[in-house]
Amino acid sequence: MENTDLRIRRLPPDVASRIAAGEVIERPASVLKELLENSLDAGARRVQVESLEAGKKLLRVSDDGRGMSPEDCRLAFERHATSKIAAFEDLEKLSTFGFRGEALFAISAVSRSSLASCPSGRRAGWRVDVEGGRVTGEHESPPVPGTTLEVRDLFFNTPARAKFLKSDAAEKSQLTRVIEEAALANPHAAFAYKSEGRSVLKLASHPSESVEEVLRARVREVLGDDIAASLIWVHEEHPGLSLRALIAPAEAMAPTRNLQFWFLNRRPIASRLLQQALYRAYDAFRGRDRHPMCVVWLEMPADRFDVNVHPAKREVRFRMDRPVFEAVSGAFSGSLLRSRGIPTIARAPALGADEVRETLAAYQNAVRPSGALPAADRSGPAVATAPACAPTTTPQLWGEVAGPRWYTPPFRFLGQIEQAYLVFDAAGGMLVVDQHAAQERILYERYCAELKTGKVKTQALMLHLPVELPASQVQKVLAQADRLKRAGFEVAAFGKTMLHVTAAPAVFQKGEDLKELVHRVLDELEAPGAAAADIQRHALATVACKAAVKAHDRLGAAEALKLLEDLKACEDGTRCPHGRPSMISLSRDELARRFRRPGAPPL
Ligand code: ADP
Ligand code: MG
Repeated sequence: MENTDLRIRRLPPDVASRIAAGEVIERPASVLKELLENSLDAGARRVQVESLEAGKKLLRVSDDGRGMSPEDCRLAFERHATSKIAAFEDLEKLSTFGFRGEALFAISAVSRSSLASCPSGRRAGWRVDVEGGRVTGEHESPPVPGTTLEVRDLFFNTPARAKFLKSDAAEKSQLTRVIEEAALANPHAAFAYKSEGRSVLKLASHPSESVEEVLRARVREVLGDDIAASLIWVHEEHPGLSLRALIAPAEAMAPTRNLQFWFLNRRPIASRLLQQALYRAYDAFRGRDRHPMCVVWLEMPADRFDVNVHPAKREVRFRMDRPVFEAVSGAFSGSLLRSRGIPTIARAPALGADEVRETLAAYQNAVRPSGALPAADRSGPAVATAPACAPTTTPQLWGEVAGPRWYTPPFRFLGQIEQAYLVFDAAGGMLVVDQHAAQERILYERYCAELKTGKVKTQALMLHLPVELPASQVQKVLAQADRLKRAGFEVAAFGKTMLHVTAAPAVFQKGEDLKELVHRVLDELEAPGAAAADIQRHALATVACKAAVKAHDRLGAAEALKLLEDLKACEDGTRCPHGRPSMISLSRDELARRFRRPGAPPL
């Protein structure tokens, strides 16, 4: 909207009352979001942010936008005073972030604020101070073009609200996140952010490049070089929908859901519909615990969607779901396919845990004429997607036997295939063990035991493991450093968008997969309402199993048999911690059947 008349007016009451009411000022980050939006609405090209005590003591936003006259400086703090709409109909063609004229009103009511502003070309600026909603002073200010908003002592007069704030680390991370989102949404503007006197973000403006280059450069600044370099550029124009995106190639998905950013007309949004479209596109390629990464910029005419759903203005409803879903999903899957050639579809399906149980049970039931089991026997315990740490009672299917059912000594080690599979003669049948899956299981259970007793042995990593993350998430991980330490991991900041894992639990000898850890912990931290301790343990344990030994070791008979003994001691030795089978077997009976012999000879 080219607004020709930018004076601030009070909205007539009938207009004000028809706009979903209630600016939500819950925390420093919500203040910052409003201030940034105002600066961007004012056409700012450079925005500087400073915070002290996680924004509770001070938030200062300075911009080089169009500035305000002295009258407007005063009016800006009034309720329903806005320069952005005059009539309800204007909402339909709105292109600014704000329009309710409530943010400054709401912010100034719960803080000590000041606004200093000067339109360019004026010889003097104006400053207004407000405390708890009351103007306490105003006077001339230096003629610095643009506007500076200072918000001090947030919630000083509403201590109940102050109580709902999280730890400084958490609030800080949210502040950074708000700037990251504003920066991704507005790649032409430069942003600088200082927290507690130290520079956290410095995002340059990229004026002369193509749209793709500008967006890529900004994504690189926010998400880091490695991630940005791999992303695929997507650009499609549909009637009423323009879509630009940078998305991860199918083979470079993330272990976290956190690297998905959506913007609609430069506003960060959330939408289940869009998320489903994204996952639909990745469906064919997506492995377990893998998530697409994306930064998506959508443009739509304002009358095709509704952001007025919630005052926080994040959840979007589209007038027409289907075309949006199809356009987005189609654009992504097309780009993915083009970027990777033809996907391999004909992979042999892996054995599910049920099938393993079945095979093993058949193996055990050598007396029965056919390998088939009565249906009732198949109803073992439900396949747990997340393996439990705590030793539980023996799964029903195994019954009350000494050791698990697959454990049928004597075993004779026959040899190793491809330094990956161990082959045993087991009571006249054959048992094949995937040695890596088995080792993972053993280490995993050992680590769980250490976690349970709170005695995790840690080893310093000779080579620190770098993990690239947006600055907000680096802060979040650092805020959890204590908990991580209890789990045997030590991390240190290394630059703004980089963490170093400096120590890891001694049970894991390989570092590369520890990257997963950080991502996973992040994911789990985001999960609302889950019990923190459990999550933590689960997250670490899951990662832990991935970090188990992967090297192809040559094993001798003694080690191979020792591995079986260790597996026997496991709660569930038949699966790796991720549910992949760790063993398959052919019972003597099954062998006989396959070779069409009348029956297995007696032992
Ligand atoms: P809204 O953004 O919904 O209009 P706000 O309370 O956020 O309401 O701001 C009130 C008015 O103050 C805005 O409409 C705008 O005219 C003016 N204003 C606020 N911040 C700035 C800024 N940084 N630069 C220029 N004008 C601003
Ligand atoms: Mg506003």
